[in-house]
Amino acid sequence: MKEQPKLPKKPFIFYYVVVLLALMLINALIVPSLNQPTQVDYGTFLDWVDEDKVTQVELDQTAGTIYFIAPDDSGQDKIYATGIWPGDDTLYQRLHEKEDIQFNSVVPRQNSPLLSFLLSWILPILLFVVLGQLLMRGMQKRMGGGFGNAMTFGKANAKIYVQAQTGKTFADVAGEDEAKEALQEIVDFLHNPAKYEAIGATMPKGALLVGPPGTGKTLLAQAVAGEAQVPFFSISGSEFVEMFVGMGAAKVRDLFKQANEKAPCIVFIDEIDTIGKKRDSGAIGGNDEREQTLNQLLTEMDGFDGRKGVVILAATNRPDSLDPALLRPGRFDRRIPVELPDLQGREAILNVHAKDVRMGSGIDMRAIARATAGASGADLANIINEAALRAVRMGRSEVTQADLEESVETVIAGYQRKNAVISPQEKKIVAYHEVGHALVAALQSGSAPVTKITIVPRTSGALGYTMQVDEGEKVLMTREEAVAKLATYTGGRAAEELIFGDYTSGASNDIEQATKLARSMVTRLGMSEKFDMMALETVQNQYLGGDTALSCSPETAAQIDGEVLSLIRAAHQKAAGILREHQDKLHELAGYLLEKETITGEEFMEILHR
Ligand code: ADP
Ligand code: MG
Ligand code: ZN
Repeated sequence: MKEQPKLPKKPFIFYYVVVLLALMLINALIVPSLNQPTQVDYGTFLDWVDEDKVTQVELDQTAGTIYFIAPDDSGQDKIYATGIWPGDDTLYQRLHEKEDIQFNSVVPRQNSPLLSFLLSWILPILLFVVLGQLLMRGMQKRMGGGFGNAMTFGKANAKIYVQAQTGKTFADVAGEDEAKEALQEIVDFLHNPAKYEAIGATMPKGALLVGPPGTGKTLLAQAVAGEAQVPFFSISGSEFVEMFVGMGAAKVRDLFKQANEKAPCIVFIDEIDTIGKKRDSGAIGGNDEREQTLNQLLTEMDGFDGRKGVVILAATNRPDSLDPALLRPGRFDRRIPVELPDLQGREAILNVHAKDVRMGSGIDMRAIARATAGASGADLANIINEAALRAVRMGRSEVTQADLEESVETVIAGYQRKNAVISPQEKKIVAYHEVGHALVAALQSGSAPVTKITIVPRTSGALGYTMQVDEGEKVLMTREEAVAKLATYTGGRAAEELIFGDYTSGASNDIEQATKLARSMVTRLGMSEKFDMMALETVQNQYLGGDTALSCSPETAAQIDGEVLSLIRAAHQKAAGILREHQDKLHELAGYLLEKETITGEEFMEILHR
């Protein structure tokens, strides 16, 4: 997000150096010149001694200098110093004879004790006070907390955004139409509250954007800031987390105070889960600071008047971890899901980002969108950028379809490893393995068409892979499709066993995927005979990886394992059967793939069906 222009930030060390330099200058120039005795030669000194002008003498033997005091022309006592004192013994005698001379006392080498006191004591203190204040102001600006807050007690440094400053509008957010609609309503309310008042409708106080990372939650909030011509306060949840207990709460208080003054306005709290986590999480010692901050937030949300026109937006990808008190009506009572984009959404997002890039003609974005099922908006933005980078690398001035396709694979599987050394035998194994997957997929009903097979190694460690892309958007998965998918996963290993009589570690990822699928079939999708429609696992973190937790007895858990195993075993046998039956095609395709390294779906189907 763009921020309001602020004073240029300088590092602390800058202020330190400035003050240090100033002190050094004062020491080197001013102080000495005030205290510096006037130089006279030794002869003049002796003359003055004879003339009884000298009143006080200090013989500094180590420095070889004599300091003495004598009145100057106007009768004021003044300090003098001789040049090098030759150290003749007769001097003692001579000085001794002069009764008036205080001999060998210490001559205070300064002429104004008050001034010197000021210079050596008061000035440095003053300078350090100034330094301290500069530092503090610097800190406040930098982190809005710490020392600054310890003194002034709580100034949230929420930045105020106004229309021009985020530069984003709803047009920048592709897809996500439902979310945009819900937010549009809020924007509309802020523009025209009378319309809503007339009918007696009140706006929800808060709306919570929930969805997986990279789906455009922050972007949507920025777009709201761009659309709503009202002040927009934006702060991230982590900015409330402070070193000292009570700081975060003070910041919340200040934020809402500012917001109330500026109403109508929008307050956006990004990543609210940082402060909004469920309380009493059982952590040892608890987390007082966070809880206080959350409590303050709850209090503030209750305290302000919704009709005044303060709308609070928040975003999170962990809605399940939020404290229920935050979600109850009167607080974040509206929940706006920002889900992963569907086929159309993906195409629209690709097109939005393609606007910033010079595209060649005849680009088929729909094909790219189809190949990127499950990608988030951020992934898609990345794909466009990778394609542009590739075009530059290739010395072209436009992005081509091939760039886009390669960049999809880069984002999915990592970069090509051009110089990877793989022995011919291993290459052969990989070719049979991949064709195994492809054949099993193609020869079963209910699996997505194969679009590409490659044995070019990738930086992610994949030695090759088979890409399958659904024709349209798939939302549901039938049992048949799930079983076909399982068999496809096992197809690689099955081909290795069939052709080489042995197998390799190359199937590790397939094994992982197959097990995950089989397990969810049993525990969550109700796709096993034994457990029928019983839910055995609950998803914990729907938007972040979707970890699951078993909720059943140990005996049942053992039975689940048995069920999963039998599903996988059946799939493996099915795959082996398919490949045995079509062994000739397996040889033919693997040979072709070895030669070409990459074959398209059409080539594959052509060979398969001839
Ligand atoms: P989130 O906050 O949900 O994790 P962001 O809003 O930070 O995700 O999105 C990251 C980037 O991804 C955005 O800056 C934008 O470039 C791109 N992006 C995500 N969703 C969309 C979308 N719906 N339309 C256009 N770009 C998107
Ligand atoms: Mg975000
Ligand atoms: Zn495999």
